[in-house]
Amino acid sequence: MKFLYSGPVFEMARQQFDVIADHLGIAEDERDRLLLPKRAIVVSCPIHMDDGRTRVFAGYRVQHHLTLGPAKGGTRFAANVDIGEIAALAVWMSWKCALAELPYGGAKGGVTVDPRTLSVRELENLSRRYMQEMIPFVGPRVDVMAPDMGTNEQVMAWFMDTYSMYQGVTVPEIVTGKPVGTGGTLGRREATGHGVAFLAFRAMEALAIDPVGATAIVQGFGNVGMHAVLGLAARGVKIVGVSDHTAAYWDPKGIVARDLVNHVTRVGALSGFSTEAAIDAQTLLEQPCDVLAPCAVERVIDADVARRLRCRILAEGANGPTTPEADKVLAERNDGVFVIPDILCNAGGVIVSYFEWVQDLQQYFWSRDEVMDRLERALDRSWTMVIARAKRDGVANRTAAMAIGVERVMKAKQARGLFP
Ligand code: GLU
Repeated sequence: MKFLYSGPVFEMARQQFDVIADHLGIAEDERDRLLLPKRAIVVSCPIHMDDGRTRVFAGYRVQHHLTLGPAKGGTRFAANVDIGEIAALAVWMSWKCALAELPYGGAKGGVTVDPRTLSVRELENLSRRYMQEMIPFVGPRVDVMAPDMGTNEQVMAWFMDTYSMYQGVTVPEIVTGKPVGTGGTLGRREATGHGVAFLAFRAMEALAIDPVGATAIVQGFGNVGMHAVLGLAARGVKIVGVSDHTAAYWDPKGIVARDLVNHVTRVGALSGFSTEAAIDAQTLLEQPCDVLAPCAVERVIDADVARRLRCRILAEGANGPTTPEADKVLAERNDGVFVIPDILCNAGGVIVSYFEWVQDLQQYFWSRDEVMDRLERALDRSWTMVIARAKRDGVANRTAAMAIGVERVMKAKQARGLFP
């Protein structure tokens, strides 16, 4: 089993888990049961391409556990997706959902494809084919998908429609992150980025940093990064750096958030936004700022980068941006970078996904204010617990957050027995 889930990202999830297992004193023979996924599904997705050829794409879904309810997590379309990475992301979803007290296990899915190389029609074919292949393994009480990197509301609408046509009735509760108007909830699109900004403000409060005039650098300008930028700027934080896969910009005078959004809406990426402010993407991470928010991919902050970071708060909008080696460096640095760990920092997305699922099941929809108010209360509750636990146990915020998540899953497994 262990050998199926290989690669640097799963290795990272395992190393993090070992730290927690030691910290909590989990018995050796309980560890594999907690860490290794309950099941993994690998499918071939043949589709017709626009030029008449047929191509087959590899699709994955890993369901880490179903002990607390259905498995829950996004589906990623990216060129380098493999089973080890998807398994790691599923494991992280479990700790994230448990920390937020959501009645879910973790899951993650993916297709090995760069969606930017597909036409809209090819993307629809692939999305529908992937869900078609997954129908025997998912369900509103089994596994509920959502967007992740490379997928969006439209892809969720195709997933929902494909599943629904098979059932013969509309089943909006099969996926979350759908367009509002087809069973989606108000507030889901901005939920993750809003949560990143909200928690960054909590951290600023704790460190007595005034948001007005404070500075932030955001890596990644997808759905998460964009709304983190907007959320930070809305309360007076100066955005001094941004980057995506096409460009990186640094301007100590500040970059107008709306201009960035308008450019990306028009062009599709940050490239071409400015000529004067261009900077090397890696160097950007090491510029001085109050908040650094990595909102892109895993493992961008390794030990070397961690040594050179000049931020006061590291707000992890991405999943797994910081390696365990970097965690060690950060723990040893005596100038104290305050880390808001991923499973807390980016939990806004899955929290509002949970609200969407609840609304779909009840067919009763809430106002945006109600969604945002409940989101902020949920994040506040998790924040308070993590900070208190870190203080009580004298451990890093990541250890505290993961310990709460792992402990909840472990207790549920102990109470239920070996099967779920
Ligand atoms: N893909 C997002 C995450 O990593 C959201 C998952 C969800 O909403 O289920 O947290």
